[in-house]
Amino acid sequence: LDVYGAPVMGEHERWLGVVIVAHDISELKRLEQIRKDFVANVSHELRTPVTSIKGFSETLLDGAYEDTPTLLSFLEIISKESNRLELLIKDLLELSKIEHAGFQVNAQPADMKAVIERAADMIYPGMEEKSIFLKLQLEPVMVLGDPDRLIQVVMNLLANALTYSASETTVEVRLYKEKDEAVIRVKDEGIGIEASEINRLFERFYRVDRARSRNSGGTGLGLSIVKHLVEAHHGKLKVDSEVGVGTTFTIYLPLAS
Ligand code: ADP
Repeated sequence: LDVYGAPVMGEHERWLGVVIVAHDISELKRLEQIRKDFVANVSHELRTPVTSIKGFSETLLDGAYEDTPTLLSFLEIISKESNRLELLIKDLLELSKIEHAGFQVNAQPADMKAVIERAADMIYPGMEEKSIFLKLQLEPVMVLGDPDRLIQVVMNLLANALTYSASETTVEVRLYKEKDEAVIRVKDEGIGIEASEINRLFERFYRVDRARSRNSGGTGLGLSIVKHLVEAHHGKLKVDSEVGVGTTFTIYLPLAS
């Protein structure tokens, strides 16, 4: 609480009373803390790949390049870390754009079935490589939205389903109408998420298992982007999960018409 007091004087220096102004600044403090945490997180996340790229390239320049196997393995790390940096910058710019107060999606009648099929085409090679079966059950549904943004939403969910599932499991995507909404459901048979973690999933850079997620190439920003995009579409997002059984993300979007 921020408190200010000031005396109120009347004529001839007569003391009339005191005005006290009390400001509840706890919400401001909380927002300020979130902002500080975010800046600290961004710095850390950017520094990690840069440190690695610097270290490995300097070692190569110091002479390690003469040994071909070392050269190849270091170059591979440098290339992987630069890709990571690129992805991180892309996600950060994206998030800052869609978090901006004036951000609006270019909503139009969009063929949600086609959106999911395009996202599925993009993720398919990764699924095949990991021997994960991708099952689509899609009804024709027109939603009100921006197809490019909706592809981003579905891609993020599919990429997570792929990352957090073991081989020989199934990822299922369903699309159907329910009352006046479109329902999109992405269900995996992966590692699942503890109930106590679910509330924090959509925070920027939040990861249930930092090391695992980073190794898998995630930026920790995917679900924040999903949440903001779904909200910009006036939609809703729900997560159901059980550790060791799997996770289901459900998105509700307004229908076109
Ligand atoms: P990341 O890039 O780390 O995947 P996200 O914002 O997409 O970041 O997800 C945040 C965290 O939520 C992940 O690090 C992971 O711990 C958890 N998570 C997301 N999707 C799933 C899923 N389908 N199954 C299990 N855990 C998940």
